[in-house]
Amino acid sequence: MSLSSSDSLFARALQLIPGGVNSPVRAFRSVGGAPFFVKAARGATLVTVDDRELIDFVCTWGPAIHGHNHPHIKAAIAAALENGTSFGTPNPYEVEMAELIVKFVPSIQKVRMCNSGTEATMSAIRLARGFTQRDKIIKFSGCYHGHSDSLLIKAGSGALTHGNPDSAGVPASFARETVVLPYNDRAALEAGFAANPGEIACVIIEPFCGNVGFIMPDAGYLSYLREITAKHGALLIFDEVMTGFRIAKGGVQERETIAPDLTCLGKIIGGGLPVGAFGGRADVMDHLAPLGPVYQAGTLSGNPLAMAAGIAALRLLEEQNPYARLDALGQKLRNAVLAACHAKGLAAQVPQCGSMFSIFFTATPVRDYATALTGDAKLFARFFHACLTRGVYLAPSAYEAAFISTAHEGAAIDRACEIFAESIRAL
Ligand SMILES: *Cc1c(COP(=O)(O)O)cnc(C)c1O
Repeated sequence: MSLSSSDSLFARALQLIPGGVNSPVRAFRSVGGAPFFVKAARGATLVTVDDRELIDFVCTWGPAIHGHNHPHIKAAIAAALENGTSFGTPNPYEVEMAELIVKFVPSIQKVRMCNSGTEATMSAIRLARGFTQRDKIIKFSGCYHGHSDSLLIKAGSGALTHGNPDSAGVPASFARETVVLPYNDRAALEAGFAANPGEIACVIIEPFCGNVGFIMPDAGYLSYLREITAKHGALLIFDEVMTGFRIAKGGVQERETIAPDLTCLGKIIGGGLPVGAFGGRADVMDHLAPLGPVYQAGTLSGNPLAMAAGIAALRLLEEQNPYARLDALGQKLRNAVLAACHAKGLAAQVPQCGSMFSIFFTATPVRDYATALTGDAKLFARFFHACLTRGVYLAPSAYEAAFISTAHEGAAIDRACEIFAESIRAL
């Protein structure tokens, strides 16, 4: 373990790693300043290499629903480690994991493990295309589904028929296969299907958005989506990489009682190790190799350490059923932020459900990407640093969700409420 300061580590990292980070948002570009380095994490707390303790609302970007370094998960990894790190053959953990997923997530009949959320969405889309024998997909502005080519597409001029690459290196020809529509907009969906008759393989959505801040669907929107996809013979893919096991044990689909055809999972399911999964209707899943013509594979897929960590995380959720407790914590934070903003005469929207929330400094109710952008990002950057100085770490961007863990219950939540209020007063 290096004892260097964050500043000297970042200087070294900048020489060797593009931007000094292995995932761009960690670089603090949208809030300014330099990132801190963490040497340890436990419960609700991060310990920086500079020996600062921070109450953490990033929770490793979602996975740490039980807090950091939970003793049960740690023990499960240690026990698995005794037997080896990877076998390259089927292992018993994979079967237990599949049984848990099928038990928890209502619409999943069969599941395939992979190594990240990006792999899960990429593979689910290939499967949807292979199953329907159609090429085009619909996604929504502001929904993030990992960084594969078909999904790094933004709304284009011909929005109803195709999008534009949202990254250099994504071919325009790929963008022609992805239609990007506004979230929460039924008329746009209807028009999108009408403009691409018989061509849409699937619609992929974050059923509750968590990657442009936290946004919830209007009442009835998800059931409308279920109806219109079924009507047009397109598969409905819920990307529950973030919301799975977090909004409810069975994800948004359990809470809203909607059955997508396919579901993508990640984050919590790995218990802090790298994992993804996708699953759904057995008749669709059986199109995957080796049973069917859709190829998908992974050297480390179903890795025993990752499975052991994930199984422990899911079993803890089953034992504790922490969702009502987490929601109470979320409401407490939301009320503290709204009260402080009100006292200061500052307009704010704080969408929250269970252990997810975000803070938009805007008078406009946030219901899609365009309204999320009305949030004052400069003010958020000042708020972010005011919190960080006082000992609370929020995601370093105005357009990310915050996550609460069961380890936040008690002192950490009380202290965070005070720090949010002080930071808002100081703006
Ligand atoms: C994080 C995330 C992904 C990508 O997962 P990675 O493990 O980072 O590849 C995909 N979809 C959603 C909704 C996510 O939140």
